[in-house]
Amino acid sequence: MVIVMASRNREDIDYVVKRVEELGYTAHLIEGVERTVIAAVGDGRGKERLQSLESLKYVERVFPILKSFKLAGRESHEEDTVIDIGPCTIGGKQFVVMAGPCSVESRDQILETAHCVKEAGATILRGGAYKPRTSPYSFQGLQEEGLKLLKEAGEATGLPFVTEVMTPEQVPLVSQYADILQIGARNMQNYGLLTAVGKSDRPVFLKRGMMSTIDEWLMSAEYIMAEGNTAVIMCERGIRTFETETRNTLDMSAVPVIKKLSHLPIIVDPSHGTGQWDYVGPMAKAAVVAGADGLMIEVHPRPSEAFSDGAQSLKPERFAALMKEIQVLVELCGKTLDADTGAAIGAGKN
Ligand code: PEP
Ligand code: MN
Repeated sequence: MVIVMASRNREDIDYVVKRVEELGYTAHLIEGVERTVIAAVGDGRGKERLQSLESLKYVERVFPILKSFKLAGRESHEEDTVIDIGPCTIGGKQFVVMAGPCSVESRDQILETAHCVKEAGATILRGGAYKPRTSPYSFQGLQEEGLKLLKEAGEATGLPFVTEVMTPEQVPLVSQYADILQIGARNMQNYGLLTAVGKSDRPVFLKRGMMSTIDEWLMSAEYIMAEGNTAVIMCERGIRTFETETRNTLDMSAVPVIKKLSHLPIIVDPSHGTGQWDYVGPMAKAAVVAGADGLMIEVHPRPSEAFSDGAQSLKPERFAALMKEIQVLVELCGKTLDADTGAAIGAGKN
């Protein structure tokens, strides 16, 4: 931690040095021309109490040298994390496309969609069985029946699938079926849920909260990793801004920022990020070039009949055309849409 003094008075400086040492840190005094700075070196346990020194009128600022996301941060883990999901790997040379409907609505709908997205080149199926809806009167998802249908569609196509889990109680059941557990934007700071998925052996797809900073999002990843589950996949899905033309503002700059701050893979969701099907393609292409490890795209055989998020869902033929355009960019960026055989960490705990 770094303590910038507002005062050059000897007694004030001595008092702060004494407090730093009482908290178990070693104090190094740096006396500049205009400011005196105290570097407090220690293991971080007294960090919050050191921070409280900022309330003294002769202390200007107290701030950490290292980021607080120790497990999720690149400072402690230089190599990119590569996560093994059955036939594909996330975070390596493979550019992963996860596609499927917002909600699982029926057996026919999910099977038809799974076959279409597989044919177009997607390698992971998505679909919501438990839906976090703004209104309690909206469709809440087929729940366990939806999980069974996803499993069937996954087996029929050979695609692993990702689906949302909304409560800690649902984690064991959803883990029985799903290959990847999704934490939705509305639950990014549900610490009980993060802790529960952190104890599970399934990789976790962590969506960014719509009002969360990148730092808060990485701290949520930290919650999962601190429980032993290091297979965390970050997903940028847009944040709330003053803009009303799009459902959310897709923060594409989060891609290079996450790449710099963290070793975890990052996926972009242009469907929720824009809210409108005709903006999905351009933002999907931008994500490839920005350096994302993959995309999550909502696809529905008949978007006009969708139970949720029809306006942002691509028809299968539009999705297939987009995949062709993406392929060129993926290759240009030195990646491939095909399954990777490179080294990867096992799913979940390792
Ligand atoms: C979803 O993936 O359908 C979903 C509800 O996403 P988000 O949590 O990003 O709104
Ligand atoms: Mn959706």
